[in-house]
Amino acid sequence: MSANKTTLPIVFVAILSVPLMMFIINNAMLYISFPVAELVPYVSISLIFIIILNLAMRQALTIYVASIIALITTLHFYIIPDFEGVNNNLQFLNDTKHILLSFITLLPVFGVIKIPAHKILKSVIYLFGSLATWGFFSFVIYKVDLPLLNITEHVFSSIGMQSPFQNFWFSPLQLALISISTVTLFILFVKSVHNIYLLAISSLATLAIVYMSSLSIIVFAILSSVICLLSAIVSSRNMAFNDELTGIPERRSLTQYSEELSDHYTVVMIDIDFFKKFNDKYGHDAGDDVIKLVASKIAKTGYRARAFRYGGEEFTLIFDGKLIGDIRETIEDLRVQLEVYPMAIRIHARHNQSASESKNRRFASVKEDIVKVTCSFGIAESLLGSKDFKATIKRADSALYRAKKGGRNCVRTVES
Ligand code: GH3
Ligand code: MG
Ligand code: MG
Repeated sequence: MSANKTTLPIVFVAILSVPLMMFIINNAMLYISFPVAELVPYVSISLIFIIILNLAMRQALTIYVASIIALITTLHFYIIPDFEGVNNNLQFLNDTKHILLSFITLLPVFGVIKIPAHKILKSVIYLFGSLATWGFFSFVIYKVDLPLLNITEHVFSSIGMQSPFQNFWFSPLQLALISISTVTLFILFVKSVHNIYLLAISSLATLAIVYMSSLSIIVFAILSSVICLLSAIVSSRNMAFNDELTGIPERRSLTQYSEELSDHYTVVMIDIDFFKKFNDKYGHDAGDDVIKLVASKIAKTGYRARAFRYGGEEFTLIFDGKLIGDIRETIEDLRVQLEVYPMAIRIHARHNQSASESKNRRFASVKEDIVKVTCSFGIAESLLGSKDFKATIKRADSALYRAKKGGRNCVRTVES
């Protein structure tokens, strides 16, 4: 799956949400608050929502949505008018900064926690677990924040310097927590680009901290939920239409794409030569590596070609608006590129493995080797006046058969 396809909509929402948040904060006169009595049905509805999400979405996303809902629930106390002074022990709830800080500090940690329980039980744990964690951690931050600031001020004044925290947005503890969170998020992001939604949510939370109003937090919660949902939609779409091994679109996408084609197009069927022998010699894992490498080369053909994994070690290229004469040279270039490309593959010591070794593949010896593979190509163009895509594929397949019969590692059309 291309990283751009996944991340672009999320980055787009994150960027858009900054001016939107500013606009709403500056313009809205609305004061949102719910009475305490509504808290029970509100939490219940949230719980049902999380359970549904958890059944339908990836765990990491559900936990973020649960966390956001827990955050709003905690902040509920903050936006209830005249809550101040009700109980001195709950004073920390009057300052949203502590709650938001505990949220962005713990969010990356929440993402990596694995709970071995049934999905419905997990949803309950997510919601109430994050509720308790926000509450507890916020309380700790509230208690430690001021003493730590005082100590820092004291240290700076004792060495005769002015404290840099005097006119600064954050206190030393807040700055430390934000830094830890930023580094953790960055590591998660480097590990997988899909963690972009975590980065986006945390940036929004930081923005909400700076603005410090109940409205900014509500806007943050709404936008963050949108990011989570968007990420779920994009990833489930990618799961349905992209091939798991190679990341390029698979057959289902090809069928869908064929319906959008114009009258003139060319289909190229590509098949790796002697792949069965390759698998037998180097093992299935090395075979998978080759399929991935060949797919990545084919996907970069250029000339506005669309690449698909047709199945197994077969690929399809579609050139919309082009006929054989236009693309013949491009395909010949691609054939040569594949032929000369030294592919680095991992070779597992598979053939001499004992039964216990192959059970424990993680410990099997792995070494890298350079191999070269070739492919055969069959080309067919759309017939004038015919919209039958399947017929064109069939003709490209016959051309591929001719390429195989003609000695492999070559390009053939039905006629040549
Ligand atoms: P030819 O030159 O005639 O195409 O010979 P070939 O051996 O490539 O053709 P054949 O269709 O007989 O074999 C294709 C092999 O590709 C069989 C199968 O084991 C292997 N294969 C199919 N899908 C995968 C896959 O996802 N991973 C790996 N490693 N092998 C695969
Ligand atoms: Mg084949
Ligand atoms: Mg083959």
